[in-house]
Amino acid sequence: MSEVEVIVPAVAESSYKIHIGSGIISALWPQLEKQHPQSQKFVVTDANLVSAGHLQNLVGKNNVPTFVIDPPGEVSKHINTVVSIIETMEKAFLGRDSLIVALGGGTVGDIAGFAAAIFKRGIKVVHIPTTTVAQADSSVGGKTGVDSTISKNAFGAFWQPTAVYIDVETLKTLDDRQYRAGLVESVKHALIADSAYFNFLETNMSALLNRDSAVLEEIAYKNCKIKAAVVAEDPTEKNKRRILNFGHTIGHAAESVSEFELLHGEAVAIGIIGAELIARKLDLADDNRLDRIKKPLKKLGVPVRIPATLAKKDLINTMKCDKKAVGQWPKFVLLENIGVALCRNGQWAHDISKDVVAETLDALY
Ligand code: NAD
Repeated sequence: MSEVEVIVPAVAESSYKIHIGSGIISALWPQLEKQHPQSQKFVVTDANLVSAGHLQNLVGKNNVPTFVIDPPGEVSKHINTVVSIIETMEKAFLGRDSLIVALGGGTVGDIAGFAAAIFKRGIKVVHIPTTTVAQADSSVGGKTGVDSTISKNAFGAFWQPTAVYIDVETLKTLDDRQYRAGLVESVKHALIADSAYFNFLETNMSALLNRDSAVLEEIAYKNCKIKAAVVAEDPTEKNKRRILNFGHTIGHAAESVSEFELLHGEAVAIGIIGAELIARKLDLADDNRLDRIKKPLKKLGVPVRIPATLAKKDLINTMKCDKKAVGQWPKFVLLENIGVALCRNGQWAHDISKDVVAETLDALY
């Protein structure tokens, strides 16, 4: 028997810029043409972005091949949509030098990013996030993917964008419930990484609910700084990146058992309170901290209790299937303090017994 060793050189470090502003997308297309003169551009967006006028605002009079996801939202986040996108690109004779411009919320970004990751073994993607979830979270960090018929985000790839353009003006047309729920990810970022940011959110909640552009730009900047720092330290979620899942263990279970009646951010709000109840049980937190965390969530109008229609046993069974579960039980991210995630023995996600979680769920109804 003979052997050949294949030495794969380390993948080159990659970096990209997140540009944040108000009203920036109307002037963006010429800039993209200038920066990527050799690349054929292909826009992926959804029907709501078209009717809200954002696609027109982006491409202007340019005749750009475009794939419009319809119906918008999670129902279209499956592999068949990705296949339709890449086959449309093939039919338009797009090659490896093409560039996908993803205009939309987290579903558009996840689908388009995954299409970019696999088309001709990988092409460039630029994200233009248009929801509070996408501007705070999903457009940064390179997680892409789609749902299977069995679970959420079952297929996917890490595929970092070439650039991200955040235009807070696009949020002005977003439905109020979506807008508010997406801001929970901002509260989450503040809680795990920056107490001054949490103070800022407490102080500026009214302006935020009025969709004040200056405040929206400020929080976009703070969110991206936090997410970028965590992703740079642990790009493929071996350890520290798990802190971004704060509130998501109970949250994902509630979202999924509700059959997506609860929006992601709404479910995470419940999960954040759940994590705090666990912390209190373990003497890591007191009632004052819990009350302080509840306040901005209540102002956002998101739930902080599990709806009575969701059965505890279903939540527990769903947690057993959590993507990050080890031995059929997930780990939990907790807070040391407001603005500081708990790290013990070098680990950022922690073993919590089933009994403690079950008692916590009881207290969350
Ligand atoms: P979404 O993309 O489905 O958007 C919500 C709704 O708002 C849709 O109907 C959409 O058409 C509409 N919409 C979007 N922007 C609009 C605008 N500016 N004006 C009017 N309507 C607009 O939902 P989302 O909350 O942005 O994203 C949720 C998805 O993101 C989930 O699939 C989740 O798994 C994923 N996600 C991914 C990451 C990641 O790191 N990749 C992180 C968090 C969430």
